[in-house]
Amino acid sequence: MKPALLCIGGMDSSAGAGLLRDTVTAAEFGLICRVAVTAVTAQTDRAVSAVHPVPPDVVAAQIFAGAPGAGAVKIGMLGNGAIVRAVAAALAETSAGVPLVLDPVLRSSSGRDLLDRAGLSALIETLLPRAALLTPNLPELRALGDWLDLPFGTGEEAIVAALQARGAGAVLVKGGHAETAKEARDRLYLPGGRIQEYTAPRQALTLRGTGCHLACAVAAGLALGQPLQVAVGRAKESVAARFALPARVGGGGGA
Ligand code: PLP
Repeated sequence: MKPALLCIGGMDSSAGAGLLRDTVTAAEFGLICRVAVTAVTAQTDRAVSAVHPVPPDVVAAQIFAGAPGAGAVKIGMLGNGAIVRAVAAALAETSAGVPLVLDPVLRSSSGRDLLDRAGLSALIETLLPRAALLTPNLPELRALGDWLDLPFGTGEEAIVAALQARGAGAVLVKGGHAETAKEARDRLYLPGGRIQEYTAPRQALTLRGTGCHLACAVAAGLALGQPLQVAVGRAKESVAARFALPARVGGGGGA
């Protein structure tokens, strides 16, 4: 029997991102996705109009219900510090040794903050040390570096080293937000200092939920027992296939 995947994150009413993207991704890998909802959001592809955080004890209860038998855990939107701490405590009790993919979701691509300052502190202190893989995009990497009080202009490698010194396992830096490159270049910083690069042609189109998709696909690979580098390579292929779909559904398709 295949393991389940436990995804912790927000509901996006447009279905472009968040847990609905995660369930589709898990299904593509043949896995059942159990979910712990941290927040209900109302959004279109252009704006987030409401965010309703779920009470931390209800988030924890969902994790207690969903964690048994899960082969990996993926975390996306968390919302606030109380929810982050509830998630960390519930995972400590239920999921020791289960690989965790932590997508440090700070803001929607439409510009709304999805994690407050206290949440970022709690994430760095409680969840980062637990993560087998952290998947920041470039703005998220900079925000993490700022929180660590690294001097302005500190380079990517030094920020990653500081995050690994605080306990993160591997770090996948997603280069899609780089302004100049013709290619999107992601770099996987493995524990021990090795770096693997994944390059793909830059897409003219922005699809929402790409970060959720990538992190969830890596978690699916880990749940299936793949080594991290293999799981990341297959996850990149899965995201590329979504970009290649000839017909996209508008108004909630996440484009
Ligand atoms: N909304 C929710 C509920 C999410 O979980 C996420 C990402 O994890 C987003 C929005 C952000 O997605 P996007 O950057 O595609 O707007």
